[in-house]
Formats: sequence, C-alpha cells, structure tokens
Amino acid sequence: MATQPISPFPSVDRIARFEAVASLCEVYGRSAVIDAIRAVLDEHRTHREEPEYRSPSDDELSRQIADRLHDRATPRLRRVFNLTGTVLHTNLGRTQLSSRAIEHASMAMREACNLEFDLDSGGRGERDSLIEDILVELTGAEAATVVNNNAAAVLLVLAALAHKREVVLSRGELVEIGGAFRIPDVMRSANTRLIEVGTTNCTHPSDYQRAIGAKTAALMKVHMSNYKISGFVAHVSEAEVAHIAHEHQLPLIVDLGAGSLIDLSAHGLPKEPVVRETIASGADVVTFSGDKLLGGPQAGLIVGKRALLDKIKRHPLKRALRVSKPLLAALEGTLLAYRTPDLLLQELPTLRLLTRPVDEIEALANRVLPHLAAALGTQWQVDVTPVASQVGSGSLPIEVIPSMALICRPTSAKVGSALKRLARDLRRLPTPVIGRVADDALVLDLRCLEDEQGFIAQLGPLAAK
Ligand SMILES: *Cc1c(COP(=O)(O)O)cnc(C)c1O
Repeated sequence: MATQPISPFPSVDRIARFEAVASLCEVYGRSAVIDAIRAVLDEHRTHREEPEYRSPSDDELSRQIADRLHDRATPRLRRVFNLTGTVLHTNLGRTQLSSRAIEHASMAMREACNLEFDLDSGGRGERDSLIEDILVELTGAEAATVVNNNAAAVLLVLAALAHKREVVLSRGELVEIGGAFRIPDVMRSANTRLIEVGTTNCTHPSDYQRAIGAKTAALMKVHMSNYKISGFVAHVSEAEVAHIAHEHQLPLIVDLGAGSLIDLSAHGLPKEPVVRETIASGADVVTFSGDKLLGGPQAGLIVGKRALLDKIKRHPLKRALRVSKPLLAALEGTLLAYRTPDLLLQELPTLRLLTRPVDEIEALANRVLPHLAAALGTQWQVDVTPVASQVGSGSLPIEVIPSMALICRPTSAKVGSALKRLARDLRRLPTPVIGRVADDALVLDLRCLEDEQGFIAQLGPLAAK
C-alpha cells in the first residue's frame, strides 16, 4: 500500500471552493453544503484504515457531496406505478384524486379562503357547511359532517350517541379491517358496551329484540367489507333492524365501510351498498370512507338524521378529528363530479380504473409487451395473460374484475431468487413499479397503468442488470 499522508483530504474550506461544490451553494445554501462536506469527509475517515481504501480525487469528493445533498433533498414519499391489480391499494395510497379535486385543494393551500367564513353575512361560518348541502343531495340524508377517516367517524358516532351505554350488533359483523381497526376495540375506545347477538352465521330479528333494554343506546350494522359468510346463514336486513330500532325509539347506526354514492352494478361491477339506499332503508346514521369507492381524499363521512348529526357535531372529539382545509377542498372537488353523472366515470380516477374495459387493457398490454421483453432479455419469458383485479381496501372483497397482465417467468432454474431480484429491480426504477409474485411468476396487472409512455421510457436500466 502506498504511504498515506497524515491528512489525505483537502480542508473543508478548500473543498467549498471547488467549482462543482461552490455551485451547489446556489441550490442548497452554504450551511447545508458545509454540513455535507463534513459528513462525506467523516465517512472517508472511518473507512481510511480498511485495506481496499483509496483516497478520492477532488472530482469524486465533489460528486459524493452533490449526491448526498441530492439524496437528502429527495422526498421519501414517491410516485409509484401500482401494477398490483388492487385498485384501492391501502399501502399505495388508495385513491388517486381527480384533477378538479387536486386543483381545488391547491387553491385552498395556496390562498386565503372562506373555510369558516360566511360570505353572505360576513360572520363566522362552519367548515362542514361547505360540503353538507351536496352530501345531503347525494345521499338523501337530512344532515352530514366529515372527519379524518371512517374509523374516526365510527368512533365519534359511538362516543356521541352511546357513551357508557349499549350498542347491539350481530356476531357475524364483528369486523376487523387491516391496520388495527376492530369493531369491538373501537367500541371500547368510545366507552360503549358492545352487546353481541346471534351467532357467527345466523342472526334473527328476535335476537335484536331480546337484547334491547334500558341501557341500549342504538342498534348497529357493520358492512362485511372484506369477507363473506356463506352456507347456512341468516342475516337481518337493514330495513328490518331499522324497524326494530324505531319500535323502541332507538337509532340504527350503519358503518358501510366503502359506501358508494352510485350503483356500481349499473357499470358492470359487483353490487356494493349505496349510501342513498341505506338511508332510504331507515338507517339513522351512516358512516363511510372518502377514499374508497367514493374516489376522494382520506375522510370519514357521517350522514343521517339532523338531531343526531347535531349531537355528533357538538361532541368534543369532533374538533379533535376535524379535517384540514386542503382535504375539505379535495372532497368538495370530488363530490362536484357527482353532479355531472354522465362524465363521472371519466373524471374520477378510481371509477375510471375500476370500469376500464378489458379489451383496452389487453391492447395496452400488447403494446407494452415488446418493450418489457426487450428490457428483460432472454432470461425472461413475458406473456399477456388474463388475470383478476381486485377493488381493494375491503371493498367488494370476494368479487374480482377481469383484467390483463404481463406475466414474467424466468427461463432459468432458480425461479424464486430470480423473481425476488426482478421485483427488487422494478422497485428501484426511477418511478418504482410494484407488481405481485404469484404462481412462480411476476404479475404486472395493467389495469391501473395510464402513463404508458412514462412506464416504457424508464425500462432501459432493467436490461443493464
Ligand atoms: C374500511 C372500513 C373502515 C375504516 O375506514 P377508514 O376510512 O380506512 O378509516 C371501517 N369500517 C369498515 C366496515 C370498513 O370497510
């Protein structure tokens, strides 16, 4: 090994005067650049004693400093291509918002706005009133409000209407949604006593009747968002439970989970509960998510009878769970699309992707196929194959939607490790591509691929691997 000078590195000040480093000050400011120089030098000092260590040239040092600054300025939250086949993928952010929602949210973030200001009277306004009218119009309810997400909506409704009292719920509806939402735990947090009735597969009207007592605050129904009970089953419909509740002057609370504002079965999708129908069947309070089938931002919507909504809005938790102004604007921008029903499926990405025709996805797959096959080389066999997409987020759990995928199969023997490597390489692309591994193949479901050119343009680096 060559003899090393005592300090092989230029001083911080000298490095800061390198032309390539000095120009970084214009982008990042001097103090961040000095910090980066120190951090890179520290890194070199810790590795200096290692046998393979080689002192960096001035150019290498400059590049390492630039890379560090660039890396630290790059957000950790990044755009990805969702080719998992799950349209509302919770881990990938569920909904993509419509342009109108995004622009409206940008306005609310950028400018002053009448968030809680009544433009008619010049006095104080209510932020909820901005979206209450349209929610009432779209659901047929008397009143509406909005909180942070549907979990918050359920918690708030129970806390406001059933504090230290009992809520009757069928055993078959003790739902757990991914991410630690479990109905019994939510009840406990709201200081509500859960009265389970019926059995896992069968609940009858008489089960509800018998459970009602002096401490009952409400009857409840929870939509089985992510499972189905089949075989020997008996459920009591919302209309029947509402009837029983009203006989005892009690409200019926319904947690719909996804809750659609339109009937998706009219567009070739499996039937999901429509909020308007649930209200019409007699439910007094209905909660549902903003970022599931509605196609908007993360939010929890609460609609129902005015007297109950007044109570819910006045509860202290409401203030703690209230939504921000960009979110409220994104929600309003989303809801406005429902006033032009003929354009709705085109405007809201969630509904557009869910109803995308299979032949359109197949044509896309055939166009992308040669580019992906070329990028992957001879180690991989790539084919266009029919697959089944899912709605996701607990919506329409069992039903699947026909779709088309590019299926990548390794031609070598070591299938498992090849698949892992390819999945990793795809995640390392400039815009990470997220697929799924199934049946010894990597499956890229193209239902959610809209930026075809952007996807193809970045495949190059795969070939180099
Ligand atoms: C999804 C879901 C929730 C939770 O909704 P978030 O908006 O994710 O908080 C609660 N209940 C049911 C039945 C659901 O499907």
